[in-house]
Amino acid sequence: MYHPDLLATPVPRYTSYPTAAEFHDGPGSADMTEALEAIAPGTPVSLYVHIPFCREICWYCGCTTGAANRAARLSSYVDALLHEIALAGAALGDRGRVQRISFGGGSPNALAPADFIRLCEALRHAFGDAADGLSVEIDPRGFTREWAGVLGAMEARRVSLGVQTLAEPVQRAIGRVQPAQTIIDAVRWLRAAGVDSLNFDLMYGLPGQDLRDLAETLEVACAMGPDRIALFGYAHVPHLIPRQRRIDAAALPDARLRFDQAALGRRMLGDRGYEAIGFDHFALPGDPIARAARAGILRRNFQGFTDDASETVIGLGASAISVFPDRILQNEKNAGRYRMLLGADRLPVTRGLFRTIEDRQHGAAIESLLCQGVVETRDLPDRAAIVARLCPFVVRGLAAWDGTILRLAADAAPYARAMAAAFDAYRHPDARRFSNAI
Ligand code: SF4
Repeated sequence: MYHPDLLATPVPRYTSYPTAAEFHDGPGSADMTEALEAIAPGTPVSLYVHIPFCREICWYCGCTTGAANRAARLSSYVDALLHEIALAGAALGDRGRVQRISFGGGSPNALAPADFIRLCEALRHAFGDAADGLSVEIDPRGFTREWAGVLGAMEARRVSLGVQTLAEPVQRAIGRVQPAQTIIDAVRWLRAAGVDSLNFDLMYGLPGQDLRDLAETLEVACAMGPDRIALFGYAHVPHLIPRQRRIDAAALPDARLRFDQAALGRRMLGDRGYEAIGFDHFALPGDPIARAARAGILRRNFQGFTDDASETVIGLGASAISVFPDRILQNEKNAGRYRMLLGADRLPVTRGLFRTIEDRQHGAAIESLLCQGVVETRDLPDRAAIVARLCPFVVRGLAAWDGTILRLAADAAPYARAMAAAFDAYRHPDARRFSNAI
C-alpha cells in the first residue's frame, strides 16, 4: 500500500546511531588509543579496511573514493595503511578476538594483487587470524582470474560485486558501463576460487530506469546465482555529492515509480526463493545472513545488514569509521592529511562523537526495529513522544502495539526507515540532507 505522506520526509539509512550527520571535529588519536586499550580480553572485534580508489568513478557514487590513476598515489596510501595497521594492532595488543575483516571502498581490487596480499599479511600479523575470514567488495570491471585466485588464497568467504543495473542505457546514464559478461566471468572465477557467499549490489531509482529495465536486471542477476542481493534506492543529493551533477535529474523516477520499483524487487526476489532481510537485503535461505535473520540475531552496521555479531569495529584507512559501545570515531577523509597524521605516528582519527546512555538506548531500539521488526519501548525516556510520532503508521496498519512492544506489519518494509526516524532524537524539521525514505 502506497502512503506518500509517510515517505515524504527524507530520512537517514541508520547504519549507525547517532548517524554520521552528527559527527563533529574534536575526537582524535588519543580517543582511539583509549578505546582500543579499554577493550576487555576476549572481546569480539571486527576490522573494516577502506581502499579509497576505483578504476573509474561512477557518477552516482556517494563513497569516499578517487581515481586509481597513479601508481605512486596507491603505493604511498598502502604504506600509510600498513603503518596504521601496526599502530592499531599494538594499541589493541592481544585483547580482541578478531571475528571478521572486511575490505570496502572504493574498490579493493583497484590495488595491485601484491599490495592486497601485503595488507592481509600485515592484518594477520597485527591482529591474528579472523575467525570468520574475509569479506571483500569488488568492482567487476577490471576484475581478473588472478584476483579471484588471490581472494581464494586469502580466505575471502564473502565477496560483494557492484552490479547496479544490467540495462545498458541506464548504465550510460550513471557513468558505469559493464557488460553482463563481466559479472558472469567474475562469478565463475570466484566460485572456482572457493568463495562461499556472493552478493550483488543492485539499484532502483536510477535515471531513465523503468520497471521493465529493473525486472530484466533482476531476472538476469538471479540467473547468475548470487547468494545475496542488496537492492538500494539511488539517493540523488548533488548538493552533497558533486559528482552526481552529471546525472540528469529530469530522468529520475518519481516517488511513486520508486515505490513500485522497490515493491517489484521484493516480489520478484521472493518468487525466486530469496528471503527478505531487513528493508533492502535479500538472501537464499542457506546463506548465513538469512540464518541470522531467522534466528533474530541480524545486526546493522556501516556496511548495512550483517550477520557479524561484533559490537566493536575498528576502521582502518582514510575516512574509515570505528565503532565502540561508547563512541564512534572517523579517520581523516583526505588521503594526504591521513598520510601526514600517520607520518607523525598518530592514529588518524579527526571526527566522531561520544554516545550518551540515551543514544545507546535509541540506537538499540532503531537497530531492533530495522533488523528484527520488533522493538521494546518500555524504558525509553521519551516514549510518549515516540508513540505520538508513530501514530500515523499505526493507524494505517503498518505497525501495531502489543503493550509497550511495537511490531512492524509484514508489508511495512518500505516504511521501516521512516518509522526508525521516530526514535531519532537528533532529527531536524529540515532534513533534506538525507536520502528518500524509499
Ligand atoms: S566502483 Fe563502486 S565505489 Fe567506485 S565509484 Fe563506482 S560505485 Fe563508487
